[in-house]
This record gives sequence, C-alpha cells and structure tokens, in this order.
Amino acid sequence: MSDRFAEKMRDKDVVKDTRLLADFAVIHCRGLHPHAERAPLVSDGQALGVYGRTAPEVCDECAELLAYAERRRAFCPKEPKPFCSYCDTHCYRPEMRERMRDVMRYSGPRSILRGHAIDSVRHVIAGRKAKREAEASRATRDSAGE
Ligand SMILES: [Zn+2]
Repeated sequence: MSDRFAEKMRDKDVVKDTRLLADFAVIHCRGLHPHAERAPLVSDGQALGVYGRTAPEVCDECAELLAYAERRRAFCPKEPKPFCSYCDTHCYRPEMRERMRDVMRYSGPRSILRGHAIDSVRHVIAGRKAKREAEASRATRDSAGE
C-alpha cells in the first residue's frame, strides 16, 4: 500500500464516499448474488479502518470491484470530486465502469430505505445541473455555427 493511498484514505470526504460505495456494493451483492459466498472485505481501505469496526460482507466479485473503487476514489484528481456518473474524466476501466454502473443502478433507489436519501437527492440535483450545463454548452456551439 502506498503512503499516498493511506494519506488519501484519511480524508473525511474520501472515507464517506468509500463507505457509501461499500453500502451500495453490499445491497447489490445481497440482492443479485444471493447464492455467492460472502466474507468480510479484505482490502487496503479496510486495513486502514475506513469501514469502521465492521467490514462490509461481499462475495469475491464484489470485493474486487470495491477494492478497485477504493483506489479510484482515493486517487480522484478532481477537487471537489463531482459525482462519478457526471464526470468527464473516465478513470475507471470500461469493464469496471460498467460493473459500478450496475451497482449504482440497483442500489441507488434501494439505498433510500437505508438512510441514504440525502445522498440520492444530491445526486439527482447534480445530474440535472450537469444536464443543463451540457445543453447550455451545446447551444453556445450551435449558435457559433459549428
Ligand atoms: Zn457479490
């Protein structure tokens, strides 16, 4: 584990986002991998205590995604970090991006029941803003005759 990773994992926003991702991964894993064997996550983030006393329990496949997501979150170059789905920097490998998208799609609506309502609302608002901005920049381009 690099010092840089350990340092980033002490940032409270990184911790918050990483825990949220883990909650989503757990919801997704329980819902869509009902027969998979689950074990407490073993990852660098977990070793650093990011998840508190209880490690998220996921299957091997979801553990791989989560460990990958920890690194991507820790090394996000944007400050402040936008919501990943509205970010123009695609830092995920395409396969992992697809898998994370599935996790978000499944767990996002379900997470509202688990106390993530505020995060979900923030996400929707950020999405509308990103859409408006994309439309505005398109309109500017169109009027410039491009
Ligand atoms: Zn799973």
